[in-house]
Amino acid sequence: MQHKLFPHLIVATHNEGKVREFAALLHPYVEEIVSSGHLGLAAPEETGATFADNAIIKARAAALATGQLALADDSGLCVNALNGAPGVYSARWAEPGRDFTAAMRRIEKEIGDAADRSAHFICVLALCWPDGRCETVTGRVYGTIAREPRGANGHGYDPIFIPEGETRTFAEMSDAEKNALSHRAIALRDLADEYFKLHGS
Ligand code: IMP
Repeated sequence: MQHKLFPHLIVATHNEGKVREFAALLHPYVEEIVSSGHLGLAAPEETGATFADNAIIKARAAALATGQLALADDSGLCVNALNGAPGVYSARWAEPGRDFTAAMRRIEKEIGDAADRSAHFICVLALCWPDGRCETVTGRVYGTIAREPRGANGHGYDPIFIPEGETRTFAEMSDAEKNALSHRAIALRDLADEYFKLHGS
């Protein structure tokens, strides 16, 4: 059997869409993943000013609570015409009620008739050990904001994001197609490379 990098990993998220993506993306590296949501761990408050701060807060809390290696991501959509908003506030723009229809409508309203519809998704991954040590990596996928939401797959802002070189939004792609391109996949590949490099395996 092929040796996998991690026998067991806690993924510190309560977002089922992310759990599905992580499970698919981590398959080559991890024997078994368990989410902090599944373990009933409380989600820590994301008080950081940056994606990296928030990823570390989440991964470190899960590593300390379980005594196991934990991975967390903090991610968001940055729209150039909005000076990078919603950015670290991407989840907050959908509150109350995780209403991404309203959040996507707000983005369209704030872009208005700006010619520049470019945007990127960013994902910072933090891998934390129970002794508090953490590593972070960053992945970005560039694209444009569609004029209206399209597609029913994926989660969050997927229906309005068209990655570079594509005509379809992330929500019009299969999970496998999105996972081949996504900010999370890019960050995860870097994390695996980095970890192999550091440990020489
Ligand atoms: P957090 O990383 O859980 O704090 O939240 C990031 C926010 O950005 C969430 O509300 C997501 O819906 C949104 N987001 C992050 N990655 C993606 C993605 O791949 N597709 C759509 N929305 C995303």
